[in-house]
Amino acid sequence: MNELRELATWAGRELEEAPALDILRWAADTFGSGMCVTSSMEDAVVAHLAARVMPGVDVVFLDTGYHFPETIGTRDALAAVGDVRMITLLPRRTVAEQDAEYGPELHRRDPDLCCSLRKTQPLEEGLAPYRAWVTGLRRFDSPERATTPVVGWDEARGKVKISPIARWTREDVDTYIAEHGVLVNPLLSDGYGSVGCAPCTRRLLPGEDARAGRWSGSAKTECGIHT
Ligand code: SF4
Repeated sequence: MNELRELATWAGRELEEAPALDILRWAADTFGSGMCVTSSMEDAVVAHLAARVMPGVDVVFLDTGYHFPETIGTRDALAAVGDVRMITLLPRRTVAEQDAEYGPELHRRDPDLCCSLRKTQPLEEGLAPYRAWVTGLRRFDSPERATTPVVGWDEARGKVKISPIARWTREDVDTYIAEHGVLVNPLLSDGYGSVGCAPCTRRLLPGEDARAGRWSGSAKTECGIHT
């Protein structure tokens, strides 16, 4: 564990200025099949990048049971056309089972518990076989993400956490999507700035930051996966 932590710290320093593909090449060489990509299916940029250096890479998607049909459609499209192995993680309880145990619409009454049951716990279990996981976090996403390292140590899970496009700008993302014909969740061109579970995501109002539509009206800004 200590070795892995030291490796993450070293790589975070060494690769801070490296292009995303070089970061992923290092990750693929270092971890091989012990690495996976996680995707919320907002777009398939990181999955596309990872598949270029590691064809057939595992892409992990958390199906909370509350996703928009467009998000499930993006997952299915990526599984069909991407050079990836799609792995869908499910919470221990269906929405109906959760409603029966905790009462309906837990997301309204206790979104932290709902996220823990439907996101954090299943991800923890799904990541167990891997030594490293790749995320699509970008520093421009929000103030909370402004210091995201390109390679860091995920203390809670004891894994190397790789965010190869952390330094990218919105323009970098859009350019990559356009140049490579990358799949994008259609909701991003339908007024949504960020895509999460349907009950906790709304369209943006003029001038709002991209993530303002997530858990709108509450102090919550992250589901807990990255905090
Ligand atoms: Fe539940 Fe909302 Fe979190 Fe999805 S985003 S797991 S619906 S609280």
